[in-house]
Amino acid sequence: MSDTDAEFVERLTQDFKEVKFKQGARRFSCQLRGGVFVIFLGPPCPKYGLLTLHELGHGLCKHKDYTTDVSRIKIESQAWERAKTVLLEYRARAFDEDGKVCDAELARILPEWDEEFVQEKLDTYRDWLHAKSRCKKCGLTRYQTEDGEYHCPRCEAFCL
Ligand SMILES: [Zn+2]
Ligand SMILES: [Zn+2]
Repeated sequence: MSDTDAEFVERLTQDFKEVKFKQGARRFSCQLRGGVFVIFLGPPCPKYGLLTLHELGHGLCKHKDYTTDVSRIKIESQAWERAKTVLLEYRARAFDEDGKVCDAELARILPEWDEEFVQEKLDTYRDWLHAKSRCKKCGLTRYQTEDGEYHCPRCEAFCL
C-alpha cells in the first residue's frame, strides 16, 4: 500500500466513524459484524483507494444481503455510485470551482475516479450473471426466483 493510500484510509477512518476499517484482509469486502459495517481492506493494488471507497459505499448504503443475482448487480452499481459521491464531496473540499487546489493536504491523498475501471468491475458481475444463468441442458437464459433458485423456461416447461 502506498503512503497516500494509507493516508487516505486514515482520513476515511476519521470521517466515517459509523463504519470500521480493517487492513490486511485477503480481499476487499464489507461485512456486517455485530451491528457495525466492517470494511475489510485487501492487498495493495493500484486501485486501492477506489476499492476502499466501493466497500465503504456498501457500508453507507447498508447493504446486508441479496436474494437474487440481479439485485446483486443493482447493489454493486449502487455502492459505486455512493463511492463516487464520497469522492466528489472530498474533491469539492480539496479544489475550488476553477480546479485550483485549496486543501493541498487533502488533494494529495485523493484517488482519481476511473470510470473505465468501475465499468470493468461491473462487467465481471454481468458476465458472471450471464454464465450462471445459462441453462446447462439447453443453453437458454434461465430466470431466478426470489428464493435464489434458477429456472429454465424451456426445460422446466417440458418437465412439468
Ligand atoms: Zn461490491
Ligand atoms: Zn433449459
